[in-house]
Amino acid sequence: MKKVRTRFAPSPTGFMHVGNLRTAIFEYLIAKHDSGDFILRIEDTDQTRKVDGAIDFIYNTLNLCNIHIDEGPNNKGEFGPYIQSERVHLYKEYAHKLVEMGKAYYCFCTEERLEKLRKEADENNVAFLYDGHCKNLTKEEIEEKIKNGEKYVIRQKMPKEGISSYEDLVYGEIKVENKLLEDQILLKSDGYPTYNFANVIDDHLMNITHVIRGNEYVMSTPKYNLLYDAFGWEKPTYIHVSMVLGSDGQKLSKRNGDASFMDLYNDGYLPEAVINYLVMLGWSPETNDEIFTMNELIKIFDPKRISKSPSVFDIKKLNWVNAHYIKKLESDKLLEITLPHLKEAYDLSNKTDEWISELVNLYKDHISYGKEIVEVTDLFFKENIELDSECTEFMSAEGIDNTISVFASEIENITDWTVENINTAIMNTKEKAGVKGKMLFMPIRIKVSGQMHGPELPNTIHLLGKETVLNRLK
Ligand code: GLU
Repeated sequence: MKKVRTRFAPSPTGFMHVGNLRTAIFEYLIAKHDSGDFILRIEDTDQTRKVDGAIDFIYNTLNLCNIHIDEGPNNKGEFGPYIQSERVHLYKEYAHKLVEMGKAYYCFCTEERLEKLRKEADENNVAFLYDGHCKNLTKEEIEEKIKNGEKYVIRQKMPKEGISSYEDLVYGEIKVENKLLEDQILLKSDGYPTYNFANVIDDHLMNITHVIRGNEYVMSTPKYNLLYDAFGWEKPTYIHVSMVLGSDGQKLSKRNGDASFMDLYNDGYLPEAVINYLVMLGWSPETNDEIFTMNELIKIFDPKRISKSPSVFDIKKLNWVNAHYIKKLESDKLLEITLPHLKEAYDLSNKTDEWISELVNLYKDHISYGKEIVEVTDLFFKENIELDSECTEFMSAEGIDNTISVFASEIENITDWTVENINTAIMNTKEKAGVKGKMLFMPIRIKVSGQMHGPELPNTIHLLGKETVLNRLK
């Protein structure tokens, strides 16, 4: 059997939204499941979209996600170059080969002529398809035109009758009527290939066995297959994947939050959690388990279980998965994803390292992503806390003032400020004020933190410090 080889083929835009990343993960898992190769190919034939540093950005992103590239622009490999703009000579060579084989032809039609045809099609309410005007030019006519410096493109000769079909691993049999296929442009007049041509040439020359890509290419694939047939090449297995939509049901875009991987990462989401979440978005394992390591995914990933329907990027679900991973973090890693956010939001100059570490560890089970530490800990950084109506109502209950004043004097008496002594102060209050359970803890919690819920109360009080606690109690 041939070695499995998949490729991730992004355009160098300097940006990766979660839909692209999910495609990369699927490609990686399919390759690694069969001990195959994962290749990075940069599709930069549209030079207008190119951004400086974009290739490093892609490497960086995949690295963070623990996705290892076997061959690519920054790796050694037998099938390079791995950047399309460095392969232009190859596309030219193969396009001209097709012309010689009679499977493609020079087209000298001017933009005005094509515009006129488009307009006519528009008026007649039919889809525009190039009319094959240049298909039957003689050799002499072609030579003459080239000699005169006329610009040309190379177009693929499509069959005009019959049906083309192929089997997609996810979508099943896909059929199109050949008469709907345009004699598509393979090589543009500037000598650059179209995506439609370059992807086929590259996938063949790079020995790609499985092409995994967005389902916007489902209906174009018969055209690609006709190219494989024209050259007499073996076709890859096709796996088209549905789109990842924003919460508004629309294609991910700036408007619906975009969900760029780097934004998530910078907000303190863990790459392994994002990967875990994305794989489960539009793919399901045979069991009901939802948490998997990369190695487990490699072992169990079966592309036949990729879903046909679009999936919605659900930040709440991602938060749930991410929280799961945060709970398992070592202290230093937890600090790494939270500290930058605390520093940015608050003045930590008078806080010790121990205090900060105690703080983030106290909230370990209470945050879903690193940056969330800022909102849950604001009670430690503000002068005055304000009670919402629910808290105010609770505090108006009978006997509460007494509980608070008993507790305040217990706190005042503490000389050694430890969690243990604070705990004892709470227990003493229980005895002396004659209250227990909710009527003991809730008033204290509300008074010192301004909240009805939160992490361990004695630890919270410890972190607040004696002076702040006394001020808030009074
Ligand atoms: N450059 C194409 C894209 O980003 C890749 C499609 C493919 O994988 O063939 O959509």
